Amino acid sequence: MDARFLRRHRITVQVQANQIWYSSRSPAWAVAAVAGQAGLEGYQMVSKDDEAIDEQLLLSSQGATAADVIGSAQLGESLALLLQDGLGLTDGDELDDDAPVIRMINAILNEAASRRASDIHLEPYESGSVVRFRVDGLLQDVAHPPRALHAALISRIKVMAQLDIAEKRLPQDGRMTVKSPSGLIDLRISTLPTGFGERAVLRLLAKGKGPLSLHEVGMSSETLQRFKSLVNRSFGILLVTGPTGSGKTTTLYAALSELDAKTRNIMTVEDPIEYDMPGIAQTQVHPKIGLSFAQSLRSILRQDPDVILIGEIRDLETAQIAIQASLTGHLVLATLHTNDSSSAVSRLLDMGVEPFLLSSSLIGVLAQRLVRRRCSSCMPRSIMGCDDCGQSGFKGRLGIFELLIVDDAIRSAIKLRGDASDIRRMALDMPGFLPLQRDGARLVSSGVTTEQEIARVTASGHEELV
Ligand SMILES: [Zn+2]
Repeated sequence: MDARFLRRHRITVQVQANQIWYSSRSPAWAVAAVAGQAGLEGYQMVSKDDEAIDEQLLLSSQGATAADVIGSAQLGESLALLLQDGLGLTDGDELDDDAPVIRMINAILNEAASRRASDIHLEPYESGSVVRFRVDGLLQDVAHPPRALHAALISRIKVMAQLDIAEKRLPQDGRMTVKSPSGLIDLRISTLPTGFGERAVLRLLAKGKGPLSLHEVGMSSETLQRFKSLVNRSFGILLVTGPTGSGKTTTLYAALSELDAKTRNIMTVEDPIEYDMPGIAQTQVHPKIGLSFAQSLRSILRQDPDVILIGEIRDLETAQIAIQASLTGHLVLATLHTNDSSSAVSRLLDMGVEPFLLSSSLIGVLAQRLVRRRCSSCMPRSIMGCDDCGQSGFKGRLGIFELLIVDDAIRSAIKLRGDASDIRRMALDMPGFLPLQRDGARLVSSGVTTEQEIARVTASGHEELV
């Protein structure tokens, strides 16, 4: 059944109930035509009042879940028609939301936004295609479009992100901004060819939503106070470490929002820019045109900065410039990809940073993870899972932290090329230092999260030394 035909004649398909609804305003000939086809597909024709039809039409164009829209598209719509409609962009940004593939993509994007997903995956397999969302750090299956539709969905995404739709053998990446009922969404798109076709991952970057403040990221009051004392220093390097998706960037933005951008020149080098910060000069790296982290940093240093945020230190060159900058009177905030605070030192030394330069520039390392927060609707009822949290028992996340402040003893250890376990032993003797797991225990005892959740996110830590 052609979805456009149905909409035009005010006829709606109720997939769950196996019914087709029509109203007194649906032309008799159209109802007869649909009834003929519906009989073959086991659907029952039901007469409804205009209001019910209006509501259904509105739902299918806006609030329909991705699974509903994909389900209704399977009702015998011809693939040729889908492809033809799905790829046709109309003038400007006005998209024809009757085209099934466009409706499907819109439904997927809207649902991802309303479920607070951070990523959307579209993956082809031998027998089907899967749409998955990452919510609160974990992937979940959302819909299973027919295998035959997969290429059309990917092509549609590539058109929206202005990628080359003819190129299917090479990975591509791009960006796009879409409107959803919950506001503008910035998306970063990455495609990758696989044995069964291209897969796509869409990262959702909330636009217009300001960064959190340091009070909101979940630090204990002691850690917050100690961390703030580092953020307010006028020079040195302060690192935030953790695996991908551990909330490092959110914490750095929160730290920046702590500083007064009116009296200090704050500049960033990022990939990508995740929030627009008022009063702060943000630079996006573009490796393709030679604007690497290192290159951008060199230019920023000629712009008289006080505070510099480096999205991530990935190479020796960036690390060296960061250290030089911090030694010449700048506060440098950066993320580094390591599991805990003490291994940040060995990571930088392994990159080739000189121990004496690191010892005189590093002021602190904050390691962090995000744990899922127990759902506030079902937790008071002592049940795990309700409609509010999608039956998971969790809704939203917050951080657990381990803050290493570099004191004289640790400075000497760095100078002597001490390894991560030496530095960790010294840290454990320091007043105020709490390992990640112990900081997590604080949230378990107050019922904010569960023990299993802490174990899950800290699995790659240093349990033997705790
Ligand atoms: Zn719940």
